[in-house]
Amino acid sequence: MTKLPAIFAFAISAITAPVFAQQDFSKIEIKAEQLAPGVAVLFGAGGNIGVSYGEDGTILIDDQYAPMTAKIQAAVSGLGAAPVKYLVNTHWHGDHSGGNENLGKAGAVIMAHDNVRVRMASDQKTTFGEVKASPKVALPVITYADGLKLHLNGEEVRVIHMPAAHTDGDSIIHWTKSNIIHMGDLFFFRATYPFVDGGSGGNVRGVVAAADKALALADDKTKIIPGHGAVATKADLLVYRNMVAEIIAKVEAGIKAGKSLDAIKAERPADGYGVNPSGFITADRFVETVYNMVKS
Ligand SMILES: [Zn+2]
Repeated sequence: MTKLPAIFAFAISAITAPVFAQQDFSKIEIKAEQLAPGVAVLFGAGGNIGVSYGEDGTILIDDQYAPMTAKIQAAVSGLGAAPVKYLVNTHWHGDHSGGNENLGKAGAVIMAHDNVRVRMASDQKTTFGEVKASPKVALPVITYADGLKLHLNGEEVRVIHMPAAHTDGDSIIHWTKSNIIHMGDLFFFRATYPFVDGGSGGNVRGVVAAADKALALADDKTKIIPGHGAVATKADLLVYRNMVAEIIAKVEAGIKAGKSLDAIKAERPADGYGVNPSGFITADRFVETVYNMVKS
């Protein structure tokens, strides 16, 4: 594991406890990028963190891994923000919710889609191994079916559920005045091919549908926070959406023509999109995911 590029290591450790235990968090620093007055993104190990802060308190979108909590709290303080009062999880994966227990104990009110709580509250079997249920203090206490509106720090922040996409419990977060959207893992910006967690109710067609809904909320000035990768634009998200849609179409055409998965893979339908080829999900692996999801 130690010789793998960092980008590979972070994504794998997202969901496997044994690998997670091998990651050395002591060397990872949190970097903050200001996106608007009172809104920032934090980069560290795991999913990108959105922060909203101001007169009504600090709200965090995702919280990476438990060993990162102290550094995240220090970075929040470095922004001039108060300690975390609210937390939203974009979905249940451990690289986005691993800090829940620490932040829950520190008094943060945790919010997420209904299915995030359901999955975190019970043992989960994933393609990468078993993930144990989280303690009660780590679970969302406010859950929703469709979404929430948070009236905080001078603007309406909308939390919008996107059905059956990366998982069955994804939400995007839209700062309506600051014109910022946090996509969670519905958008991996060049870091890796899409990870679609079928075992958690995800579906590739849902990823396209979610991107379409986010694109409809965005304009050319919108700053888009991906789950992993640098802050992006509407144009970048459109490229991602079209990549997923085009690969689905190519794989579907191959299936209709009676081609095997190996024959479809050999045509390299996922090449040429500028995605890190050695990311957590390779081109072949994504094509296989698409194949299995559109075949059935
Ligand atoms: Zn994820």
